[in-house]
Amino acid sequence: MRRYLLILLAIIAVGVVDHSVQADDSSSLPTNYFGQDAEDSSSTDFSFNDSSQTPSRQKLAIPRDTPTPLEGIRWRKKKILIYMRTTDPQLKAAFRSAVKKWNRVKVIKIKWTKDEEKANIIATDSDLSAHNTNTGVGYQTSQLGETKTEYDPDTHELYKATSILDPYQLDYTNENFRSEVAQHELGHALGLAHAPEYEHSVMVPRNIRTGITKNDRKTIRLLYQ
Ligand SMILES: [Zn+2]
Repeated sequence: MRRYLLILLAIIAVGVVDHSVQADDSSSLPTNYFGQDAEDSSSTDFSFNDSSQTPSRQKLAIPRDTPTPLEGIRWRKKKILIYMRTTDPQLKAAFRSAVKKWNRVKVIKIKWTKDEEKANIIATDSDLSAHNTNTGVGYQTSQLGETKTEYDPDTHELYKATSILDPYQLDYTNENFRSEVAQHELGHALGLAHAPEYEHSVMVPRNIRTGITKNDRKTIRLLYQ
């Protein structure tokens, strides 16, 4: 017997001038809203062979009313492997710093791997302005980063996350700010959604002014403990 799992692809982005998030007024959406600034509903069918790789179909618990909103997805395990695909020294430093900061919460352990195949999260770079030219009319996007997540909508389990930083947009920013943008993107890769502007959270999508906050740490504890 074969089971078919639907893996949804969501693209979550952050920017100084953000894109569709603002147009949608995402702050009014329920915290577990899946489609938040998803680019489109491109989907992939996966089949699993019962004998060798049937995943556990147990639904993962997702808490409600966390200080920082959630996407409604998470990793099944607490040890998460990340692979550095970007070769940009500034972005590498930002991702390394962000991994350290998330590990300081002491709930999940993000570990660097040299094996891209084994990685859960890919840390990479892309010119996001070029990539988004067709998304709006008369809309200037200035995105700093973006995270794509692949997950099973039935079990809420994350399979893969790709966090992207834009080297051009971040070139003239300082080291601390780049780390905060990377912390924001890895926040998405762990299952966090955008927080409203008035919250004290690294997940506020525009004008990032802070790294991981007490609220964000509490949210990760609720999500993974
Ligand atoms: Zn974001």
